[in-house]
Amino acid sequence: MKNAWKKYENIQEVMDFSEGYKDYISTCKTERECVAEAIKIAEKHGFKDINGYIENKIQLLPNDKVYYNNYHKSLALFVVGSQPIENGMTIIGAHVDSPRLDIKQNPLYEDYDIALMDTHYYGGIKPYQWVTLPLALHGVVCKKDGTTVEIVIGEDENDPVVGVSDLLPHLAKKQMEKNAKTVIEAEDLNITVGSIPLKGEEKDAVKAHILTLLKEKYDIEEEDFVSAEIEAVPAGKARDYGLDRSMIIGYGHDDRVCAYTSLMALLEVENPAKTLVCLLVDKEEVGSNGATGMHSKFFENIVAELISLKEGFNEIKLRRAFGNSKMISADVSAAYDPNYPAVNEMKNTAFLGKGISINKYTGSGGKSGANDANPEFLAELRNVFDKHNITWQTSELGKVNEGGGGTIAYIMANYGMQIVDAGVAVQNMHAPWEVASKVDIYETRQAYLAFLKEM
Ligand code: MN
Ligand code: MN
Repeated sequence: MKNAWKKYENIQEVMDFSEGYKDYISTCKTERECVAEAIKIAEKHGFKDINGYIENKIQLLPNDKVYYNNYHKSLALFVVGSQPIENGMTIIGAHVDSPRLDIKQNPLYEDYDIALMDTHYYGGIKPYQWVTLPLALHGVVCKKDGTTVEIVIGEDENDPVVGVSDLLPHLAKKQMEKNAKTVIEAEDLNITVGSIPLKGEEKDAVKAHILTLLKEKYDIEEEDFVSAEIEAVPAGKARDYGLDRSMIIGYGHDDRVCAYTSLMALLEVENPAKTLVCLLVDKEEVGSNGATGMHSKFFENIVAELISLKEGFNEIKLRRAFGNSKMISADVSAAYDPNYPAVNEMKNTAFLGKGISINKYTGSGGKSGANDANPEFLAELRNVFDKHNITWQTSELGKVNEGGGGTIAYIMANYGMQIVDAGVAVQNMHAPWEVASKVDIYETRQAYLAFLKEM
């Protein structure tokens, strides 16, 4: 395994590419924001909403670029190939949801003149990492009149931030004896939002004051939280990490780093033979369920529309399109952490700076729940990566029986397509601030581009 930095005479192109990515994750902290921004970028590159084609029955032609926006939380982007879609698609699929604290449906309460919001965590977090941090609130409030209010509080430097408190060490004697799993109880991840009472109000005056502010600024009522999705996320921008600026610390590398690199790769391809796809899905961190997760039929439905618009639909074409496809499940790997070497088996570990990481399988225990990619497909992938001078490594998620995890790979494998996990190695995965190497991000974009061009 080579260190990818050594390959570059001039590292400027690596550094420059990471600037666009830093901007992306600094502004896009929810699945909705990631999808909206991806659409904006894609439209600048000539992509059009496929609904226009469907409504007007416009034939899809080779090299047409279209996208399907699924409830603003997942997105499928296509570059139409010259070959029939039934020959198979070349797909890269990442997820745009990240672990966070979701505001509950009935969140606001007051406790001795402090107003708080109750949260329900989303995805696999260590609750103790989410206290005493500046948090921002991002999301939408959908009102009964059909309008949607977008909320972002805590990102502008003049904005206030919110946060979850923790005990002072002086009074934490009992707390410090607890297990790390329970030292901060998930139900206690309550966000402090205010402390000034509303004048003339007797009961819950601080809460009333917060509601007044929300009414003034956003024209929302307490009851509107019922139909809202507001996420508490780490406040602030992604930044260069390390004195040599070789890495990026930011919120949500998992899996926006693979989402961004897949999108950037797709934008560079012209006139493909196979139809190329970039899939950005929601709900991976909670099992890929729901209408916007990978288990949903939305992708199958939209490919059916594509076949119908391009060459006329029948069921067998659709099934062949999926069965003949090749896909990279673009998701992050666990990067070796010098502070915790014991969880890895060193020959099969991903390292920062050693390029895109291929995971033949994920799962846990005896590969339970894994998509175990076919070696024939891995051989093809190695060949493509080597031909394009990509620095790549292979890894598994920790030692045998150390733990485990999953991605969307096994779901798409159900169609009988060839699929393997490959993406950027990340340190501090699922922590509020995750770390990735700039050269791995660059190699991953190059690797995805090679995959789209050659498969
Ligand atoms: Mn992931
Ligand atoms: Mn994850």
